[in-house]
Amino acid sequence: MFRPLDFSHEREIGYDDLKRRVEAYYSDADFEMLKKAFDFATKAHEGQKRSSGEDYIIHPINVSATLIKLRLDLDSIIAGLLHDVVEDCDIDPAEIEREFNSEVAQIVIGLTKISKIKFKTKEESQAENFRKMVVAMAKDIRVIIVKLADRMHNMRTLQYVSDEKQKKIAKETLDIYVPLASRLGINSVKAELEDLCLRFLHPDIYYRLAEKVAMKKTDRDVYINATIETIQDKLLEYGMKADVKGRPKHFYSIYKKMKARGMDYDQIHDLLAFRVILSNITECYKALGIVHSSFTPIPGRFKDYIAIPKVNGYQSLHTTVIGPSAERIEIQIRTHDMDHIAEAGIAAHWKYKEGVAGNSTKLDWIEQLLEFNKNVSNNNEFMDVVKNDLDVGGIFIFTPNGDVRELRYGATPLDFAYAIHTEVGNKCVGAKVNGKMVPLRYTLKSGDTVEILTSKSQTPSKDWLTIVKSSRAKTKIKQWLLKVERDKNKEIGREILDKCLKVFGTNLKSVEKNGEIHKAADELSVSNVDDLFINIGTGKFEAKKVVHALPSIGPEEIEDEDKKLEEVNSYSKKVSQTARHRANKDNAVIVDGLDDVMVRMARCCNPIPGDPISGYITRGRGITVHHSSCTRIEQGDLARTVHVEWNSEFKFKHPVNVRVITHDKPGILSQISKNINGNGVNIRSALAKSLPDRKGSFIFEIEVKDYSELLKAISGIETLEEVISVHRV
Ligand code: MN
Repeated sequence: MFRPLDFSHEREIGYDDLKRRVEAYYSDADFEMLKKAFDFATKAHEGQKRSSGEDYIIHPINVSATLIKLRLDLDSIIAGLLHDVVEDCDIDPAEIEREFNSEVAQIVIGLTKISKIKFKTKEESQAENFRKMVVAMAKDIRVIIVKLADRMHNMRTLQYVSDEKQKKIAKETLDIYVPLASRLGINSVKAELEDLCLRFLHPDIYYRLAEKVAMKKTDRDVYINATIETIQDKLLEYGMKADVKGRPKHFYSIYKKMKARGMDYDQIHDLLAFRVILSNITECYKALGIVHSSFTPIPGRFKDYIAIPKVNGYQSLHTTVIGPSAERIEIQIRTHDMDHIAEAGIAAHWKYKEGVAGNSTKLDWIEQLLEFNKNVSNNNEFMDVVKNDLDVGGIFIFTPNGDVRELRYGATPLDFAYAIHTEVGNKCVGAKVNGKMVPLRYTLKSGDTVEILTSKSQTPSKDWLTIVKSSRAKTKIKQWLLKVERDKNKEIGREILDKCLKVFGTNLKSVEKNGEIHKAADELSVSNVDDLFINIGTGKFEAKKVVHALPSIGPEEIEDEDKKLEEVNSYSKKVSQTARHRANKDNAVIVDGLDDVMVRMARCCNPIPGDPISGYITRGRGITVHHSSCTRIEQGDLARTVHVEWNSEFKFKHPVNVRVITHDKPGILSQISKNINGNGVNIRSALAKSLPDRKGSFIFEIEVKDYSELLKAISGIETLEEVISVHRV
């Protein structure tokens, strides 16, 4: 099959080649360091092979060669050589910092992080998030540029991997890296990536275009050279020396044009493009005039991107003319500076002097991008584009399946749970971040993989509203709470009404069955029976009023029963109050808004109400409540501690052990027991032991409701004459 463009990488390229190419634009670079990096990478990748069967080192060398083509600074070129050593050779980034410098180490760390992002999803809409994610994780713009060079070489050698992998990587490149290259104005990389994507994603289209462009390579070269000469001669007549280049147009741009205009291959004419490069802007416009008077211009095809640059900073004059052999040709006219910017984009902005580069990397790289584009006249548009495309408004979180969700800064696992699905949010009992349990209040960071743990019995609580940051989660929690409130009130209302009806010798079931309840609802102008119950439950309607509205029970009869009804009403108040408190009664401790999480008191410090406490998330056994000063909390993983509070609703006697040391004296045990009981404290068990020196040791297990009751018991024992010491154990 015909392969028109040569995407192959450089197979034979050594240190001397790299050095020569760097010298061409940056003569006083630190070549000792470059050599060191070259050797370091060679050694690290020794024995590793690529899918092509070649030595792995060929890959990082090609990546740095691309960076040199873009005329990047030395740190970037070195990072290009070292970009895979952390990931593939287990080199510690600290070693890179030691051997080279922290800038290089940071770029390599950034690249390693990006390589861990998994682009697994099939959803189109996720591409934008991934793009933002890449941007968010690259603190230094050079990370993205090196990444683009890395991707370009991988695409150039993509024929060596499986078909399935080819499609996947090409799609990822088209969705994520091509837009980034475009936004950064690195057109040389963008155009090549696009053509490679077309070749692997739509080989049929790619090869038909290739044939069309083909003519015969020699014929084409002859034609291109002749045209270059003609243009150069015309310009020379006016005393202008121009650098003129010609090449077949990029396939992807032809493909896009075909798609956009609904054209067929045969209708595509301008397949060759020429570039005229001059020394200044005045010459560019002069050259345009000469081109237009020498060849017939196609109307509507002239564009002045010098006066109005593209949003990424691209400047050039574009025109299409009928060329020397009646073929349409596209001509771009620009200065050398514009040409370098068009090829290298923001990379062209890079300063080579070490000190300067060092300073500029400290800037936020989006700021650099703005700085780079500040001479662009349509700045507002640019700002919008940056905002939409690159500005990162939040953080990017992965599901265990590799899907990504954008959340706002400060978002918690609970926000993430609601972002996945309302039901996942409502049933959320905890979360694992990167495999570790975290409290629901945990603040998520970009790149975290979050697994939400759910439980059927879990329900949202009001406290969750203070945990979540997103309005979606807040709305969902509020909706749930309102519904629960409604359901609860409905149940209360039914219970009260039923009780009330029984006073009149009937019950709720019968009035529901005979339909009278609907009539009462109509009579009281509520839209349905449920609302009727809810109104009773909330206390808006007295049950009496509803009974009154039932056709079979007249108001006359109610007079006789007034007293009973009063009773019913006071009963109904009681019902609604206890029902509302029931929910919190069962747990001694309230865990960060969770009602249903499993809670145990730690055996090591056995806290009782009144003690300062902290919760500790255990693996698979809920939450253990420790005394805040317990060594287990202080030495434990801070990320696993969770805020807990004593539940004031909870009435429960807590067992506590108290050790009493006394002078040995007959009857002392019963004396202490009496004293403890005298303070209203129950003794569960007592253990006695005699110590040397005629001393006795007792351990009492007593039951107290809180810390103050324990203090009372302890100080009570202390008042006894024979007692030496009393301690909680
Ligand atoms: Mn790589």
